[in-house]
Amino acid sequence: RIVRTVVDNVTDDVYAVHVVQVRARLARRRPAPGARPRPRRRHPVSRSTSRGFARRARAFDGRCRDRRRGSVPWRTSRSRGHFDAFEARATATMPASTVDDVVTVLITGAAGQIGYALAPMVCAGAATGPGKKIALKLLDVEFASEALRGVKMEIMDCAFDACVSVDVFTDCEKACEGVDVAIMVGGFPRKQGMERKDVLGKNVAIYKQQASALASKAKKDVKIVVVANPANTNAKILAKFAPSIPRGNVTCMTRLDHNRALAQLGERSGKATIEVKNAIIWGNHSSTQYPDVNHATIEGKPAREVIGNDAYLDGDFVDVVRARGAAIIEARKLSSALSAASSVCDHVYDWIHGTKEGEWTSMGVISDGSYGVPEGLVYSFPVTCTGGKWQIVQGLSIDERSRKLMDESAKELTEEFELAEQCLAESA
Ligand code: NDP
Repeated sequence: RIVRTVVDNVTDDVYAVHVVQVRARLARRRPAPGARPRPRRRHPVSRSTSRGFARRARAFDGRCRDRRRGSVPWRTSRSRGHFDAFEARATATMPASTVDDVVTVLITGAAGQIGYALAPMVCAGAATGPGKKIALKLLDVEFASEALRGVKMEIMDCAFDACVSVDVFTDCEKACEGVDVAIMVGGFPRKQGMERKDVLGKNVAIYKQQASALASKAKKDVKIVVVANPANTNAKILAKFAPSIPRGNVTCMTRLDHNRALAQLGERSGKATIEVKNAIIWGNHSSTQYPDVNHATIEGKPAREVIGNDAYLDGDFVDVVRARGAAIIEARKLSSALSAASSVCDHVYDWIHGTKEGEWTSMGVISDGSYGVPEGLVYSFPVTCTGGKWQIVQGLSIDERSRKLMDESAKELTEEFELAEQCLAESA
């Protein structure tokens, strides 16, 4: 009854907070008869009664009071951070039967080479974490349906403990039904003799169509990560044509570039990659991306100090990270698939489970104007994740060189989006 009252009257956020509170109460053990009552938890929500809460919830105007900053939007408030942490704790202590255990994961372009590497990783829990069951949905075009059937057979033969079902589709609407996490790998490859505009035109048309299928059939809070190139622009098109999906739920993958930067710094310094933290990929998932080491650390010390070679960090390091994909094609005669699949899992895992304390990652997200990046562009930023939501890391110092490189990538993205809109208009 309490939950229904709140659903009827307030925004999703306040509803979520209240559900968490109710769940936490259920999870809390009653004191033994005669035992001294436990001190009441000082918590902004638990202090109010249910009726009082519902009254306050009705009056909620999207803002709340912060001791230092006064009235601030709820989404950016410190209380929001507390609630997210509280939710994580409450959910963690809940019995399994009360948690939604099965995560429905969609992989598009699943018969392709990234899809082939990604599907088993997802079924092994690399994206959603331990304790979750996976209902896997694989989508590809009619042309690839036979290969897709083969992928399904192989996944079944792996007998993954966590995988409760594998279904294959060539119909996008059916594939999107009830999806929690959508990994968009399907895309038209750039063939010999094709202009950049030709590939872009084909792919944005696909993403426009898939946007409406996701908006109408997927879960309302579906988390989307676009991998297929041009990843940032495809994601922007998807967000544009799926306005009912929260903008924060549409992202594109730059985690592979981020991981490449960490690996290069680790190798150069002779340290394990796990000791390297907080590199940043700014901008487009293209050759204008800017791998930034100015805030990176190695074993807790500034990366520039540990490596002691600014010429390398500002020159070869940037070029190697930017051109790593091409180097892999040259060596393997095929584009990177294993590392791309592994990075998709890292992206989704951190988004769902949160980044580690004091660490950030890179994600292509819709710009809110932070760091002077034009609002609305899907641009790679440093982000932290808590409670299933990402936040752009704020307040990092940006030197003149970084500013120039960040602006170059933003300019490319703006032009790319204009071209995409032109292609869509021409094909309409
Ligand atoms: P891959 O699985 O190798 O790549 C899929 C997409 O991911 C491409 O757009 C690729 O871009 C992109 N990508 C992003 N990051 C990376 C990276 N680090 N390394 C490599 N690729 C990256 O391509 P395949 O051709 O093997 O598979 C594509 C699948 O998509 C096929 O099964 C095909 O049938 C399907 N498809 C689906 C369509 C649809 O849904 N309507 C339309 C066309 C194809 P890039 O090309 O720049 O490497």
